[in-house]
Amino acid sequence: SMASPALLMRVVASAYSVAEKAAKIVRNVMSAGDLGIVEKAGPNDLQTKADRLVQMSICASLARKFPKVTIIGEEELLADDITEDLIEDGHCEEILKKPCPAQYTGIKEEELVIWVDPLDGTKEYTEGLLDHVTVLIGIAYGGKAIAGVINQPYYNYEAGANAVLGRTIWGVLGMGAFGFQLTEAPSDKHIVVTTRSHSSALVNECITALNPDHVIRVGGAGNKIIQLIEGKASAYVFASPGCKKWDTCAPEAILHAVGGKFITDIHGNSFQYNKEVKHMNSAGVLAALRNYDYYASRIPNTVKESLVP
Ligand code: AMP
Ligand code: MG
Ligand code: MG
Repeated sequence: SMASPALLMRVVASAYSVAEKAAKIVRNVMSAGDLGIVEKAGPNDLQTKADRLVQMSICASLARKFPKVTIIGEEELLADDITEDLIEDGHCEEILKKPCPAQYTGIKEEELVIWVDPLDGTKEYTEGLLDHVTVLIGIAYGGKAIAGVINQPYYNYEAGANAVLGRTIWGVLGMGAFGFQLTEAPSDKHIVVTTRSHSSALVNECITALNPDHVIRVGGAGNKIIQLIEGKASAYVFASPGCKKWDTCAPEAILHAVGGKFITDIHGNSFQYNKEVKHMNSAGVLAALRNYDYYASRIPNTVKESLVP
């Protein structure tokens, strides 16, 4: 008889369905019209009803199936208001059918850490820039991001009523990433993608030093990795603290599943995702699908000295 699927594949298959449920919640909260906005650290650090409900949905759904996995979500919530309608118990059958990469077949529940950003790009969500928004579920083992799911609830929202709204991108190291068309950015241009709503003098100083042909300013860490894997931008450059482990875990897994080593802090240090790690990516983010070294070698020392890991 067939051996039962490896834990990692069961977690990814469940995370896929959980992220699709999350996307429905994100769309439902917006169409109901009451976002319930709360300021966290300040006016550029917001939480909406969607952030809260989605985090409850994702964390409770995954915890029910995988009780020994460590799950770390962005939002601080009271645990007791979870309702049954928020639980997703399905999984993606197609993912479950794929063989687990050999190096991950023996993973146990207590060895996994799941980093959850229930809604990445909240500021843009509140401003109606809906395709900037993603739901991020990153899966780490041995401190490394090894698998991830990125759902984009409003993918195609400007394409008209007949277009299918939303998509789910997923990937596993050693297997690849799916749900999008891998495309390289034009090789004769340096296109930098960076923050839209969390700029600073240092962020801009760093970008200027790279002398890019074009700068794209959009919200969300998930969205910016999508810009890289779909060939819209050649590098994601963010010389600032502010981005956290739940912002980078799923995007890192997807980017590495299609290309190699290419997301670090501004000094070139790779990120760690074990459960004890500091949440803040204090020394910023530098990522590229190709030509990572071109950008890494041009980050000014003055910028590096301002950002302590
Ligand atoms: P952005 O590129 O500005 O959309 O940021 C990517 C992710 O990092 C989002 O989840 C932001 O909320 C978060 N982030 C970046 N900078 C800050 C900041 N200064 N304060 C709070 N969150 C931030
Ligand atoms: Mg985020
Ligand atoms: Mg968030």
